[in-house]
Amino acid sequence: MTKVMTLEVITPERVLLTEKTNFVVAPGTEGPLGILYNHAPLITGLLPGVLKYESQGRMFFIAVSSGFMEIHDNRIVILADTAERPDEIDLNRALAAKERAEKRLIEQHPGLDVQRAELALNRALARIKVAAHQQAAS
Ligand code: ATP
Repeated sequence: MTKVMTLEVITPERVLLTEKTNFVVAPGTEGPLGILYNHAPLITGLLPGVLKYESQGRMFFIAVSSGFMEIHDNRIVILADTAERPDEIDLNRALAAKERAEKRLIEQHPGLDVQRAELALNRALARIKVAAHQQAAS
């Protein structure tokens, strides 16, 4: 029997992905979480970061923002506010978002929502990393 799991990535806008996979690394709130066949049932939060999964011997990369993940019965469901494949990412937009967030965090104006700025920075960094994988692969 082949030990494959199903990975689904869902945003409010669309179902981005339904794939068979044998290995996933997700950006959990407690750090990167590696998932193999027969993982224990789990519900956890997700932070903006890079979702990696293996399919047919290749690693694939998706940029995700905040959300939740459920693992049950070899089915992994990612519910994220946003998710993009490498070829969907506008690198210049992500670089501009990174600069804006860094500027806010450096300037520390009164009333700055630090957590919001950090989340924006991490979304931008995840997109930049995923776009770099696309460039490396082509
Ligand atoms: P920005 O400030 O550039 O809007 P953001 O992190 O605030 O960045 P989000 O609110 O996370 O943007 O996303 C809004 C929508 O835009 C989502 O549909 C998301 O997939 C898309 N999106 C955001 N940044 C990019 C990007 N660099 N490339 C492609 N799509 C993006």
